[in-house]
Amino acid sequence: MNTLATLQRQLASCSLCPRLVAYRGRIAHEKVKRYRDWEYWGKPVPSFGDPQARLLVIGLAPAAHGGNRTGRIFTGDRSGDWLYGALHDAGFANQPTSIHKDDGLQLNDCYITAAVHCAPPENKPLPEEFTACRPYLLRELILLQRVQVVLALGQIAFAAYVAARRDLGLAVPSPQPRFGHASVHRLEPVTLIGSYHPSQQNTFTGRLTREMFHSVFQQARAALDARGVVL
Ligand code: SF4
Repeated sequence: MNTLATLQRQLASCSLCPRLVAYRGRIAHEKVKRYRDWEYWGKPVPSFGDPQARLLVIGLAPAAHGGNRTGRIFTGDRSGDWLYGALHDAGFANQPTSIHKDDGLQLNDCYITAAVHCAPPENKPLPEEFTACRPYLLRELILLQRVQVVLALGQIAFAAYVAARRDLGLAVPSPQPRFGHASVHRLEPVTLIGSYHPSQQNTFTGRLTREMFHSVFQQARAALDARGVVL
C-alpha cells in the first residue's frame, strides 16, 4: 500500500478548519470571470511529486484561483509558472509549466507540500490553521524517507519546517536558524535552504528575480550532489 497516497486521499477530504472550508467552497462557487467555465476543485490541495524524492519543497498555501481551482499544488497560477520553471531548469520536472492536473507534468526526485493545504483569505492562514494542518506535514516527513534537502518557499514555510522538526523530536539549534534567500543550514538529516516565495508581491517588485529563484534550485541540486546518492 502506498501510504503517501493514502495520506493525500485523507487530506483531500479534510474539513478541520471551518474558516477555510467556507472560503474554499465560496471561491469554488463564485469563481472569477476568466475561469467561469472551470469546475473548481474547492477542497484541500494534496501534495504532489515523487515518493522517492530527495528534495522536498514546502510552500505556504494554495492560491484561491490556482491550486484551489485546479486541484494540484502550485498549478494554474503565476507562482506555479515560476516554481516549475525553476524545477525544470534544475532537472526536477519533465516540463516547465503546470496548467492543469492532466497536463503530463511529472516530478523526478522532488516532492512539493505546503504548510497549509486549503486556500486562505488574502493568502494568510491563521495560527490555528497552521497548527491544524501540521500533522499532515509531520506524516509526510516520516514517510518521505529519502529526503536530504528541504527547500522552504518563504519565511512562513521555513518556520513551519522548523516547528515540524521540534514536533518530531529532531534537533533545532539555538539560536534558531534564520530565514534568508539562499540561506543554507545543515540540520541533520537534511540541508535546509530558504528562498523568497515566488508570490507576485515578490516577483512584481523585483525582490525576487528569475535568476535568484533558479539559483536556489541549483543550490539544492548541488547540495544533493554533495551528499551523494542514498541507496
Ligand atoms: Fe484540513 Fe489543512 Fe485544510 Fe485545515 S488547512 S481543513 S487541516 S487540509
